Amino acid sequence: MKFVYDFAEGNKDLKDLLGGKGANLAEMTNLGLPVPPGFTITTEACQQYLRNGTHVDGLAAEIDAHLAALEAGMGRRLGDPADPLLVSVRSGAKFSMPGMMETVLNVGLNDESVAGLSRQAGGNDRFAWDSYRRLIQMFGKTVCEVPGHEFEDALHEAKVAKGVRDDVQLGADDLRELVTAYKKVFAKHTGHEFPQDPREQLDLAVEAVFRSWNADRAVLYRRQERIPADLGTAVNVVAMVFGNLGADSGTGVAFTRDPATGEPGVYGDYLANAQGEDVVAGIRNTLPLADLERLDPDSYAELMRIMATLEGHYRDLCDIEFTIERGKLWMLQTRVGKRTAAAAFTIAAQLVDEGVIDLDESLTRVSGAQLAQLMFPRFDLSSSFEAITRGVGASPGAAFGQVVFTSQRAVEVAASGAPVILVRRETNPDDLPGMIAANGILTSRGGKTSHAAVVARGMGKTCVCGADEMEVGRDSFTIGSQTVREGDTISIDGSTGRVYLGEVPVRPSEVVQYFEGDLNPSNANDSLVAAVHRILTHADSARRLKVRTNADTGLDAARARRFGAQGIGLCRTEHMFLGDRRELVERLILARNEVERNDALAALQPLQRADFLEIFREMNGLPVTIRLIDPPLHEFLPSLEELAVKVAVAHEHGQHVEHDEQLLAAVRRMHEQNPMLGLRGVRLGLVIPGLFAMQVRAIAEAAVALAAEGGRPRPEIMVPLVGAVQELETVRAEAEKIIAATVGDSGVDILIGTMIEVPRAALTAGQIAEAAEFFSFGTNDLTQMGWGFSRDDVEGAFFWRYLELGIFGISPFESIDTDGVGRLVKIAADEGRAARPGLKLGVCGEHGGDPDSVHFFHEVGLDYVSCSPFRVPIARLEAGRAAI
Ligand code: ADP
Ligand code: MG
Ligand code: MG
Repeated sequence: MKFVYDFAEGNKDLKDLLGGKGANLAEMTNLGLPVPPGFTITTEACQQYLRNGTHVDGLAAEIDAHLAALEAGMGRRLGDPADPLLVSVRSGAKFSMPGMMETVLNVGLNDESVAGLSRQAGGNDRFAWDSYRRLIQMFGKTVCEVPGHEFEDALHEAKVAKGVRDDVQLGADDLRELVTAYKKVFAKHTGHEFPQDPREQLDLAVEAVFRSWNADRAVLYRRQERIPADLGTAVNVVAMVFGNLGADSGTGVAFTRDPATGEPGVYGDYLANAQGEDVVAGIRNTLPLADLERLDPDSYAELMRIMATLEGHYRDLCDIEFTIERGKLWMLQTRVGKRTAAAAFTIAAQLVDEGVIDLDESLTRVSGAQLAQLMFPRFDLSSSFEAITRGVGASPGAAFGQVVFTSQRAVEVAASGAPVILVRRETNPDDLPGMIAANGILTSRGGKTSHAAVVARGMGKTCVCGADEMEVGRDSFTIGSQTVREGDTISIDGSTGRVYLGEVPVRPSEVVQYFEGDLNPSNANDSLVAAVHRILTHADSARRLKVRTNADTGLDAARARRFGAQGIGLCRTEHMFLGDRRELVERLILARNEVERNDALAALQPLQRADFLEIFREMNGLPVTIRLIDPPLHEFLPSLEELAVKVAVAHEHGQHVEHDEQLLAAVRRMHEQNPMLGLRGVRLGLVIPGLFAMQVRAIAEAAVALAAEGGRPRPEIMVPLVGAVQELETVRAEAEKIIAATVGDSGVDILIGTMIEVPRAALTAGQIAEAAEFFSFGTNDLTQMGWGFSRDDVEGAFFWRYLELGIFGISPFESIDTDGVGRLVKIAADEGRAARPGLKLGVCGEHGGDPDSVHFFHEVGLDYVSCSPFRVPIARLEAGRAAI
């Protein structure tokens, strides 16, 4: 196996092997750009080193050979006392991990070669000693884990002793003394002297870079960014060039476009008489890159030429590190640069205008996650606010409001017109009204898959969860000694997880204003909105998947339609039984005979019909999938504890509360150990006479009513939780009779299909398809039942551990588990279609709006995905991306 590549041997497509930095150094070398010579030690060498825990067979010999070639090319030997070659040892993984890993500059300097370096620089002692002290500092910190502040303290003392502010004001003698001080620090912490052998320095630095792959902060970063843990880093050994040789030297960073906004132009910072990290370290004030034109017009002009070359070559925004050594420009790094979400869209559209890429390719330059970011309002942090604590940014956005601690208070305060932030230890389904009323939700427990997080994301509502420094009480929360009371105002940032005291001003999202129809993309002088419009329009024309929405109300349906939804994929009916209607559901549950039950159903039916009619109107001409009632009925009753206490108190006072007693008896009777696996879905329809019939009649009547108004209703009745075709056949037979009797000759056509959300349904999809005109994959339940864990219980209990162990890289509720649950989807899709060609296939549930899942659903050939209104544009974009 070959472990070392000369820069001339690599290219930009070898990132797996050479890391991003090495691959791009090679690419620039082969483009003929001025890159100092060097070589790259591969990620495979790193992987072996980390596996063995010690040296890698054959690596030393290869380094010998490449070092010899480098020395020959440069006409200098590493660390030669008379005329030393110095090198940098730089980490560089496949994915950039900014500031996560290590680099050591000036390797090869020692007590003797420092003099040789000075002679090379025309007797510049100051420069030589400055370089030497930097080596000891970086080497000490990175290779030998000497606490960095010890060096900084020594440097500070040297400046104080000299009475100067900047390190450039230290002279050669000061720096020589500083080297002595640094060596003492080094020896004190390591128990040995700073190594004087240049080759030993090199080898130790290479190994330190290998090890830095597993440094705590690198591990953490990878986990957050979902970078696989076993890639390893490459190591680049590069001949040093010096930006710290005097005023005609310097170092800088540059972008070929503005990475914040995407606007064209040259952006960057420059620092004269400085080395490497000084620019980013912020030790001195940098100059804007434009000033280099004045300081060194020739180098500036060359840099501009090179930047144009790089953009032309990479066909994208590039970022660059460069150094000028006595008027000679050197390129030290480039890559396709990171950028904000706004810049990603703006640049992609610009590159299309410039003819560099076509519209298809523009889809590869943006992502649904970036579009999601652009859809949330943001804090305007121009005035300074300090965060009081931080949690997990669970659902992005920016929200402020009065603190309230119960769902009920949230509803009351919001009704008075004031914005509220609902603060809870954690939320549960009872908090739903408060969550709907609130501007934002803050919890002290739970992570990205907690109830609060999942529900908030579905509603497009800002949520910070797991802010565990917070102690949440009844009417206040504390963070350390700070107390925040009900009625105080706080602001929460759902992207960063930060929590602020007071009202941070918020800017609305232009992109949402555009989706809402309030901003016209053609005459907006907003290039971002124009770019989003253009790219999304292309995604629409490219995609095969249709995008529907999950909506339970006319309001949601209307918004989703503005956002581009092509119908409703999931209309849940249970929300229609809450509020005032709870009492009617109670009557249904408590009915002692058929007459009472029919009365209760008869009271519910017109209400349901009105709900459906409103939704059909909003979705006129588009399909609307209505799911018959799904949750266990006891969810509509008060909790056992609550009722038991109420009844006990009443009895204590000698009162007779017959209704509550009956209710209590019903709650006891209906109690289930595992409601998720209990009497719900189609099972309810089969057990409670008239329930499904009432809903089917309401749907059919609403459709007939819209048709009578001249509209075009397209209802699809969906039966939940089917596991066996017989269940569906039974429901279907009854429904068909009702539909036939209701629609008459109105021309209304109603499809009947089922959810596939029980594993058995997926595995018998061929049979079930005989009785279903469509399947909608309920991937939330399919995930719960596929894995055998309940979504409401697992997050806090063990998900964190599973993520830590890499059992899954992301919660399977967030992104579909393609190997397992996804396989069930694929089997059902294939077997369902085989049994009934033309069977309509869709998906509803959280995954319908998740970018990776959308790509999967495209691949297995579904017809549509359905997601919450706010995710509709994201699904449109990702469906387009999946299709090209
Ligand atoms: P990072 O990945 O953190 O940017 P780098 O490996 O790019 O780390 O190096 C840190 C700094 O040192 C950068 O500013 C880089 O330009 C500079 N540097 C690296 N190698 C050399 C070299 N051979 N000559 C001069 N400066 C260098
Ligand atoms: Mg760099
Ligand atoms: Mg379900």
